[in-house]
Amino acid sequence: MTRKIIWAPWRIEYIEKAKESLGTDKKDECFLCTAWYNDDELVVYKAQNSFIIMNRYPYNPGHVMVCPKTHTRYLENIPEEEKIEMWKLLEVSIKALTSAIKPHGFNVGINIGRIAGAGLEDHLHIHVVPRWAGDTNFMPICGNSKIVVEDLKSSIIKIKSYLQEIVKELKI
Ligand SMILES: [Zn+2]
Repeated sequence: MTRKIIWAPWRIEYIEKAKESLGTDKKDECFLCTAWYNDDELVVYKAQNSFIIMNRYPYNPGHVMVCPKTHTRYLENIPEEEKIEMWKLLEVSIKALTSAIKPHGFNVGINIGRIAGAGLEDHLHIHVVPRWAGDTNFMPICGNSKIVVEDLKSSIIKIKSYLQEIVKELKI
């Protein structure tokens, strides 16, 4: 079936206005910056310019985020060396999670802007969400809740040990 498009060009004015009122750039209130500078226990791996942190409110066990150390919401503001390192950390995360918790697949993505689902829109990050067959049920749809079957501490211990080995292999 072909999807029908309804054009509404007059709405661009409202959208442009809404764009201006999005977020602030306060580094000291940013939990990712705080985690980077204070070596938060959720940080499972810290490279030179980027890091991997467990999501405190995971969609699934092993939900991590790959983050640049630069506090910015714009892809183009992330320095080249950080971007390259982030890509490597993405690879490392997927390898470590695959060994540690054996998911059937992954969702990898960036939410840019609150409207796109970014809980923290001022510090860009890549979500890595392990997926298993049958891991979606009625709870997120009907109850706006998610059941996560493993506690964060156990996930951290498991994932950290695999990360150390894989990082050595990839020389990051
Ligand atoms: Zn930040």
